Amino acid sequence: MSDASGPSFREAAHATAELVSDYLAGVAGSPVWQPMDPAARQALLDLPLPGTGRELDELLTEMAGRIMPSPMGNGHPRFFGWVNSAPAPAGVLATLAAAAMNPSSAGGDHADVHLERAVVRWIAELVGFPHAPGAGLLTSGTSMATIVCLAAARSRAAERAGWDVRADGLAAMPPLVGYLTGETHSCVRKAAELLGLGSRQLRAVAADAEGRMDPAALRSEIAADRAAGRLPFLVVASAGTVNTGAVDAFEPIAEVAEQEGLWLHVDGAYGAFGVLDPEIAHRYAGLDRADSLALDPHKWLGVPVDCGCALVRDPAQLRDTFSLVPSYLRDEEAGGLGWFSEYGTEQTRPFRSLKVWATIAHRGRDGIAADIAHCTRLARRLGELVAADPQLELLAPVETSIVAFRSRPAGLAEHQLNESQLNALNRALPLAVQRRGEAFVTGTVLGGREAVRACLLNAATTEADLAVLLDEVRSATAELMTRQ
Ligand SMILES: *Cc1c(COP(=O)(O)O)cnc(C)c1O
Repeated sequence: MSDASGPSFREAAHATAELVSDYLAGVAGSPVWQPMDPAARQALLDLPLPGTGRELDELLTEMAGRIMPSPMGNGHPRFFGWVNSAPAPAGVLATLAAAAMNPSSAGGDHADVHLERAVVRWIAELVGFPHAPGAGLLTSGTSMATIVCLAAARSRAAERAGWDVRADGLAAMPPLVGYLTGETHSCVRKAAELLGLGSRQLRAVAADAEGRMDPAALRSEIAADRAAGRLPFLVVASAGTVNTGAVDAFEPIAEVAEQEGLWLHVDGAYGAFGVLDPEIAHRYAGLDRADSLALDPHKWLGVPVDCGCALVRDPAQLRDTFSLVPSYLRDEEAGGLGWFSEYGTEQTRPFRSLKVWATIAHRGRDGIAADIAHCTRLARRLGELVAADPQLELLAPVETSIVAFRSRPAGLAEHQLNESQLNALNRALPLAVQRRGEAFVTGTVLGGREAVRACLLNAATTEADLAVLLDEVRSATAELMTRQ
């Protein structure tokens, strides 16, 4: 029954390949997303624990009938929500092979461990970040990569101040202070809270109209904290914010960080790979000066979830933060780098590198760069289409591949919507668009205004899809207006 070398496994594996191929081939012709049928939803919630086992082919039938018809929608070329990509086909196949091998990529002398070293180097090369052997690892996502990087930053700062944070914790130390902006992703705050730094010790530095951190304001915040006896230690910049895709000006921030002895961390979860598009590569100047960079191959590269990556300038800093292997034993490990579990939080680690390898190897650097450039070009085009429509309003410049805008229906002068009516309309708009099933956008709040946000990550998206998206936004707006 459970023998994977038997004929029933092979047959089920072939059937799985058919099922998955049919599924992927059918995505673009299906609704992007539909609310689940309440009975089907409840049936899933109430699934009883099976007492006896069932055949593999029965399980496949159930997957095909009950699970796969209700996807999140992110495989569809007109899915523009959050930052969730379509899966790279090569990554889908690799996922099955990785599960078949099922190693723990904690360390040792097996292919998965060495492949991870190689793909981490590839990722660093793709985004132009300096890479010493051992200076990074794959994680579940950027949230985890951020915890890893900020832990290293915390260790370095404590050590410089004469504290052993691993042995003594933070209790006796003066507060460590970090700097970010109002647009920094919430995972940074989560990491700071978990690491005992306290979110109150994070300063939101003033930003310019495009959301980029003001280096002069950063400098004066640091001075004020020093004067108050606190220890500034960290500045977090963004390579693509989640709301508008804005990229910080890294050079002047790196300059301040260097002079002040702060650790510069860059959140490139969504946007770091944008550097591959020659049209916008200049925005990333100075990214290579960061002490650490967190990014997500499971976003713009399309590596099937989950896959984040933490890159650091100095591998020793990471190892000193996490390793429980005494340093006199470390160099006896193969290659001198030791285990991945000495560089991060996880012990048993999944075989993520195979899907990264397959995804990058299938497209090559040039194919990936072309896919990225396609997305940024479409995003700029969408920005133009929005700007050209008097009933829509672009709310931020398009820097990478995110377009933030709102619906602003024209009416007779006495029927013009005021700001609070516009906010109510635009808050309701994303779900109204989603429910129609033709396109999927999500919402956000920008400078107090409710906004619709479209993120372009899928190389299969076309200009015709942009036209459908805007038609859907107009139709959903009209629906909401008549309902008022
Ligand atoms: C998605 C995202 C994160 C969080 O990454 P996860 O992979 O979801 O943990 C952080 N920052 C930005 C800018 C993001 O887009």
